[in-house]
Amino acid sequence: MSDSITSTKVLIIGGGPAGSSCAIKLRKLGIDCVLAEKARFPRVKLCGGMMTLKTKKALRDLLGDDCYGSLLSESRVSVLHSFTIYQKLEKKVSCNPKEPMELLDRPKMDYFLFRHAASLGCKTFDGDALSTIDFKEKIATFVSGKQIKYEYLVAADGASSHVERLLRRHDSHFKSKNKCAAIVELDIKVEDIDVEDTVGIYFGIVPCFYSWVFPKGNTVSIGLGKPHDKNYNMKAELRKFMQLLGVRNMDSYEIRGCMLPMRSMLKKSVWRNHVFFVGDAAGLVDPLTGEGICYAIASGSEAAKAISMIITKSGDGTAMYEKALLPMKSIIRKAEIIQRAFSYSFILDLVCKRAKKRLGFMNFFYDEFVDKGVDESYFQLKRRWRKIENGRTAVK
Ligand SMILES: Cc1cc2nc3c(=O)[nH]c(=O)nc-3n(C[C@H](O)[C@H](O)[C@H](O)COP(=O)(O)OP(=O)(O)OC[C@H]3O[C@@H](n4cnc5c(N)ncnc54)[C@H](O)[C@@H]3O)c2cc1C
Repeated sequence: MSDSITSTKVLIIGGGPAGSSCAIKLRKLGIDCVLAEKARFPRVKLCGGMMTLKTKKALRDLLGDDCYGSLLSESRVSVLHSFTIYQKLEKKVSCNPKEPMELLDRPKMDYFLFRHAASLGCKTFDGDALSTIDFKEKIATFVSGKQIKYEYLVAADGASSHVERLLRRHDSHFKSKNKCAAIVELDIKVEDIDVEDTVGIYFGIVPCFYSWVFPKGNTVSIGLGKPHDKNYNMKAELRKFMQLLGVRNMDSYEIRGCMLPMRSMLKKSVWRNHVFFVGDAAGLVDPLTGEGICYAIASGSEAAKAISMIITKSGDGTAMYEKALLPMKSIIRKAEIIQRAFSYSFILDLVCKRAKKRLGFMNFFYDEFVDKGVDESYFQLKRRWRKIENGRTAVK
């Protein structure tokens, strides 16, 4: 091996929540790792930054109470108590989840986790992108020319994973994820828009998906997404939406775009027992809410445990990892069904009408399905809610 090549047990590509969580967990398990990030921290990251209860739990489990507290004080930007569904601009139904919704500044959160991984002894570097991989020799080459030899590779490089692209070229049998939604978003100053203090989801603005307005302290995130379609001008649609919302000084803001995995989970998330896909790179995003931080953290941690299992020869790490992803995939699939149904406006109308009459169900649905992430279908949840309601009425 040439002198210029460094080596590591585990090389993680991508310093988002999935990559940093994997690095943190690996270090806690005493495993040597390198975490590589293309952008220079603190980097821009398009994200609503909303944490559900399951995200908070995943972070607390990973970091411990004290460190989780430090993360919140460094990156929390707002706490909201209501969630509203609109059709076009008409408010359809609103609910107040049991737990407040906390919104984080993603660049700060990601930088915190990246630094935390480094503080635990992971070798980190940013501002250098992965360029190529020799999958036979297990050597990754970066744009700067740096080369790293690894035993295990973790692809945590997001929705448009470069590792996935390289692997597809290397192995034509590798089944990659195919669908992604295109997203456009921007943060505007709070004084340039009049909004309610609620997490707002807007249906009927774009076909097959939704738009959102998230108040985040001094700024408000506005965005929309749509299954990728080259002929659809997303930026123009976002400008129209901003006009509808009455945004002032529109021209002073720059709209940014990115991809979000949508109905596109990898069938197999491990390639030949040593390349692990985590977070967005594995397609682990809930298409109903666009939520992916909790799955990124959970899959990153699980991949670390699986690699440790293989290294210590204490079990079949590949099978363990695929098994650990099953509950996440099952919830995401259920959300896919609801998201598909909601793209028909008559179904959304019907659901909103019913939800208005039964606000309790809307709260229950949010608390159980969105916040806690219970693995039940819409109809199972409805049945369970009815039982609880009937029990309450009987007691009265
Ligand atoms: C507009 C928008 C709003 C969202 N809102 C929410 C929300 O409110 N709540 C929620 O839970 N989720 C939300 N999500 C989803 C969430 O942002 C993602 O699921 C989450 O960031 C996934 O984490 P990750 O670490 O897998 O990927 P990422 O966060 O995308 O991190 C991947 C990292 O890999 C790096 N990288 C890429 N290529 C290379 C390379 N060649 N070499 C080295 N590094 C590379 C990138 O620079 C990046 O830092 C939202 C997403 C979008 C797009």
